[in-house]
Amino acid sequence: IPVERIRNFSIIAHVDHGKSTLADRLLEFTGAIKENSGNNQVLDKLQVERERGITVKAQTASLLYNVDGEDYLLNLIDTPGHVDFSNEVSRSLSACQGVILLVDANDGVQAQTVANFYLAFGNDLVIIPVLNKIDLKNADPERVCKQLQSLFDIDPSEVIKISAKLGKNIDSVLKAVVKRVPIPIVNRTAPFRGLIFDSSFDKYRGVLSLVYVQDGNVKVGDTITSYHNKKSFEIKTLSLLRPQEVPVERLVAGQIGLVGCNMRSSKEALIGDTLHNSNDVIEPLQGFTPARPMVFAGIYPMDQSQHVNLRSAIEKLTLNDSAVTVDVGTSPALGLGWRLGFLGLLHMEVFSQRLEQEYAMDAIITAPSVTYKLKLKPTKQNLKDGTDYIYVNNPALFPDHLTIEETLEPIVLGTIITPDKYMGPIISMCMERRGVQKNATNIDNERVMLQYELPLCEIVVDFHDTLKTLSSGYASFDYEDHGYKPSNLVKLSILLNGNAVDELSAIVHITKAQTVGRQMVLRLRDIIPRQMVHIAVQAAVNGKVLARENIKAFRKDVTAKLYGGDVTRRMKLLAQQAAGKKKMRMVANISLPRDTFIDVLKK
Ligand code: GDP
Ligand code: MG
Repeated sequence: IPVERIRNFSIIAHVDHGKSTLADRLLEFTGAIKENSGNNQVLDKLQVERERGITVKAQTASLLYNVDGEDYLLNLIDTPGHVDFSNEVSRSLSACQGVILLVDANDGVQAQTVANFYLAFGNDLVIIPVLNKIDLKNADPERVCKQLQSLFDIDPSEVIKISAKLGKNIDSVLKAVVKRVPIPIVNRTAPFRGLIFDSSFDKYRGVLSLVYVQDGNVKVGDTITSYHNKKSFEIKTLSLLRPQEVPVERLVAGQIGLVGCNMRSSKEALIGDTLHNSNDVIEPLQGFTPARPMVFAGIYPMDQSQHVNLRSAIEKLTLNDSAVTVDVGTSPALGLGWRLGFLGLLHMEVFSQRLEQEYAMDAIITAPSVTYKLKLKPTKQNLKDGTDYIYVNNPALFPDHLTIEETLEPIVLGTIITPDKYMGPIISMCMERRGVQKNATNIDNERVMLQYELPLCEIVVDFHDTLKTLSSGYASFDYEDHGYKPSNLVKLSILLNGNAVDELSAIVHITKAQTVGRQMVLRLRDIIPRQMVHIAVQAAVNGKVLARENIKAFRKDVTAKLYGGDVTRRMKLLAQQAAGKKKMRMVANISLPRDTFIDVLKK
């Protein structure tokens, strides 16, 4: 197929606005899958995706569509719909020339619609506005057209109205893609250059990379090199996705295909990297920034005997998700474990859900923390090795406050869209979470869009849930990375009889230290079992105690009431008590049951 008849596009939408349903209809309409094949949402493969209705890994399909006797190749590039994956979204978009901006005709423009619009707009892509669900009784296409006009300057006459569910007007969507999406600019005679925009792991074939061929062509047997990785591989398999794999011998510029070349770890297939022929010297296709984890959490097996199984499950899952970072993280109280880095909170939830569902793993995942940036007081040494700025995501590694010059925290720009009657409580919540309002716009008579700069750490824990509760489910939220800002952060230490327990410490904003410290101390007082010794539980910042509670000593003599009684029963009870003690761990000379930590850390 000549380049003039290739179109690369993607569907972007707020969650539940019908992206998967529309993708299925497009596949049916172009004959790629049989109608009503019963397998709804062909493109969402993972169980988590089906359950949560979100697309985690981008899935892609090539469609053949005939207009006026001419065959067109339409490459539908599916992008993950959620903010946590916005890095993957922009990668996928870089292989497109246009997008379908799909909006629910009943719900109207939502926070992700706004974020996705700007992502596409910023990439200079042609935007085809489509209203979905016009079959719904409460659909109000006129109102939503006005929203699109006032927010994005979209001409109502350009808006296509469809029902993906009933398959109504699908043809006009395909026609608009052919007509409005620009022809990709490629060069078929130049040396081969391909952009890796997604990768997955196959048990038998190793890593399979989704590649957009920008220039030249590539065939089975070629030796290729990845530009940023400098490693070379032989091409073993090439295939088109229709959406099932169709093996081919060659891919040419303008096409999208699956490349198998015996890479063993998805870390070798860097998303955003350029592949080229090993003999050629080329310019890379685009600047390359690796996905940066934003949220970190410790993970430990429920039981140390499951350590090996958990390790292998984590290894397998990360093969398919190169954005997760893994470091060994041992804790005296919880034993051997890992510290994992995720793109966001949802990414973390999806990962733990997959551990549970696909590997039947029951693991303890600690409360998430973010990565802080610290400017240390200059010393000869740290200036010399450039360690005057450091990144810390583990409170246990927070340096002594006397060595710190400035603390900075990650900030996001959050967009909230809500019916205006919930605005009051939402604004209070944002203020409570140290948000700074940047913008407030009416998007129609009853809806507003609020934009806030918020510290990332304030949204990683139940921001979204609280927002939903405050707005009876009507508000939506999305965010983007907004760099680091100076902020007065301190390490809140928890001490048991004067000894700091690092697993319980936290990095908090100074204005929250008192409240958080108080809560932690009260919570520990309630869950630490009484012991033979008196325990003082304290919360302190920079050596200053902010809160204190006492747990009185208690002598537990299980056999007392059995004096003169049955000897074997008495022995049995003593044995049980000994076993119970073994499960305890000595922390700060106090034995604490592992469950205590789990309770506190799980949040
Ligand atoms: P996604 O999250 O954007 O992929 O949305 P889905 O395609 O999973 O659709 C979300 C829900 O909306 C599902 O229950 C669909 O059946 C429903 N839906 C999708 N398109 C339509 C439509 O045109 N009309 C109606 N009434 N429901 C639709
Ligand atoms: Mg979907």
